[in-house]
Amino acid sequence: MTETGDVLDCVVIGGGPAGLTAALYLARFDRRFLVIDHGESRAAWIPESHNIPLLTQGISGREILRRQREHAEAYGARILQGKAAELSKTSAGFAVSIERSGAEISTVEARFAILATGVADIPPRMPEVETAVAQSLIRYCPICDGYEAKGKNVGVVGFGSQGLGEACFMARTYAAKVTLLSFREPLRPSREELQRLAEHGIRLIAEPIKSLSCEGGKITANGAARYEFDVVYSALGVRYRSDLAAEVGAARDEAGALKVGDHAETTVPGLYAAGDVTQGLNQIVVGMGQAARAATHIHNQFK
Ligand SMILES: Cc1cc2nc3c(=O)[nH]c(=O)nc-3n(C[C@H](O)[C@H](O)[C@H](O)COP(=O)(O)OP(=O)(O)OC[C@H]3O[C@@H](n4cnc5c(N)ncnc54)[C@H](O)[C@@H]3O)c2cc1C
Repeated sequence: MTETGDVLDCVVIGGGPAGLTAALYLARFDRRFLVIDHGESRAAWIPESHNIPLLTQGISGREILRRQREHAEAYGARILQGKAAELSKTSAGFAVSIERSGAEISTVEARFAILATGVADIPPRMPEVETAVAQSLIRYCPICDGYEAKGKNVGVVGFGSQGLGEACFMARTYAAKVTLLSFREPLRPSREELQRLAEHGIRLIAEPIKSLSCEGGKITANGAARYEFDVVYSALGVRYRSDLAAEVGAARDEAGALKVGDHAETTVPGLYAAGDVTQGLNQIVVGMGQAARAATHIHNQFK
C-alpha cells in the first residue's frame, strides 16, 4: 500500500476500544482517515465485563471489539492490520511507517494523529496465564471486576504503592479476606504501610512466593507455604505503549503514560492520545470518552 502524496485528515494508531471509538466518530464526520491496528488489544483478555453501561447482561472483550469494528466499518472506516513502526513530523502533519506481515513497509501521511496504543500488563509468573484469566482466577483490574469478587478470599500480588493500594481497595470495598504477597522480592512495608494493612485487616506474606497454580477452581500461591485463594489480583504494573509519541517529543509521566489536555491533545500540536496509553483511569468508557473528544476536536479544525 502506498499513500504517498495523499495526505489523510487523520491516522489512528491502535484499534482497541479507544481507537475504534475515534474511528466511529471520524467516519461519521466524513473525515478521510485510516486505523492501523496490531491486534493486541488488552480488551481481548476480558472474559466478561459487567461495568460497560447499557450492556446489562455483561459482554466479553472480544465481542466488544467485534461490535465496535463492525459499527465503525458500517460508516466506511478502514482498519488496516499492521504495526505502526515509526511516527515522524512532516510539513503536512505526521508520517507513519507501517509494517505488515513482518516485512512489508508502507507509509501514510496525515494532518492529525491519534495514538490509542494502550498498555501491556506485566503478567504474573505462572503457566497458562491466559487460561487463569479466562477463568477469572487471575484478574488485573479491581475497578473493573472487584464487584464480582465480593465476599471472596482474595490474594493481591504486587509491590510498593500499587500492591498496597489494590489490596486496600479490595479490602475496603469488596473482599471478605485479603492477602498481600509478592514475587521475586520480599515485601518490606514501612510502619505507615503496616498500619494501613492492619486497619483494613489485610494479611501480609512478606517472603516472596515462587509460583501460582490453578486447580479445582481455586488458585494457589506456592512459597514457604501454600496459600489458596478464590481469585488473585495481579498488581505487577503495566508497560505503556507510548514510544511512538515519545519519538515526536510528546510529554510522558515517569511511568510512560502520555499527558493529555481537555481535548485529549498531547503536548505535540496535532497529536492526540486516548485510552490506557494516557495518564488516568484505565477503563473502556474513559478511553471511549477521550477518543470522542479527540475526534471531535480534530474535525472542528477543518473549515
Ligand atoms: C483481564 C482484564 C479485564 C478487564 N476488564 C475491564 C472491564 O470490565 N471494564 C473496563 O472498562 N476495562 C476493563 N479492562 C481494561 C480494558 O481492557 C482497557 O481499559 C481497554 O482495553 C483500553 O483500550 P485501549 O483502546 O486504550 O487499548 P487496547 O484495548 O489495549 O488497544 C490498543 C490497540 O493498539 C494496538 N497497538 C499498539 N501499538 C501499536 C502500533 N505500534 N501499531 C499498531 N497498533 C498498535 C494494540 O495491538 C491494540 O490492538 C480489563 C483489562 C483486562 C486485562
